[in-house]
Amino acid sequence: MSILPQHKCYLTRSLTQAPWHRKRVICSATTLTPKPKLRPNQPATEPQLVNPPNLVSPVSIPPVLNDPSLQSTWSHRSWVATGCVTVLVPLAKATVGAAHSHTWLEPMLAGCIGFILADLGSGIYHWGIDNYGDGSTPVFGNQIEAFQGHHKWPWTITRRQFANNLHALARAVAFVVLPIDLACNDPVMNAFAGVFSGCIMFSQQFHAWAHGTKSKLPPLVVALQDAGLLVSRSQHAAHHREPYNSNYCIVSGVWNEFLDKNKFFEAMEMSLVFQAWGETQILERALH
Ligand SMILES: [Zn+2]
Ligand SMILES: [Zn+2]
Repeated sequence: MSILPQHKCYLTRSLTQAPWHRKRVICSATTLTPKPKLRPNQPATEPQLVNPPNLVSPVSIPPVLNDPSLQSTWSHRSWVATGCVTVLVPLAKATVGAAHSHTWLEPMLAGCIGFILADLGSGIYHWGIDNYGDGSTPVFGNQIEAFQGHHKWPWTITRRQFANNLHALARAVAFVVLPIDLACNDPVMNAFAGVFSGCIMFSQQFHAWAHGTKSKLPPLVVALQDAGLLVSRSQHAAHHREPYNSNYCIVSGVWNEFLDKNKFFEAMEMSLVFQAWGETQILERALH
């Protein structure tokens, strides 16, 4: 199979950042190099794909304690405050609407569904930014850089200040939920939107707690982790172990076992590879 240069870049970039995928495509002789650049924690014997020079991430330096990059700025705090307001508005509207109509069951069920689906959403988003793109990717570049850097130095998330850790998701939540705040008055929809978006926004805090030491975490957090309502430390620790392709969900972690057993993310990877390969074939046919 020959691949056009622009598609070779696409495949190479995505596959080199997905360790389990890298193992699958090493049969492609055109993309292998005998002197690979190793990723942290990767066996030295494993063949690597070539990184085109313009796609290689710059060598990064691990943050030090009290590193300014881990501290909150007023901009971070403003975005987190804005995100909290946009989440609290639908929750308040749902509560008032339920009280007026005397129907609590449906909004509460909608909130539970929002909580469960937020875990799934966090897993899909986490999988995407762990494995695709880099710091220069439009819109998601900062988040991608933070998550991929997190795999190099997982401990830094415990040193990251609250607003520094949450501001990117808070900003996204503010933009997405604001129209719902303004347009929606249905208690059920508001309950779902408020719980779902709130869990997504705070998922990075749940993630940070999953990296915490039990003795240093607030007892309530440990109790919620033990009860399965927040992603547990042991479950998330597996995400940072080989083969680095499991336990992506970081709200409650309730989806992790199901997704990993059914190889959900591997299927997503394969579908993207086949899609890229199909596009290559179409372009090749068009050019010949
Ligand atoms: Zn990750
Ligand atoms: Zn982590």
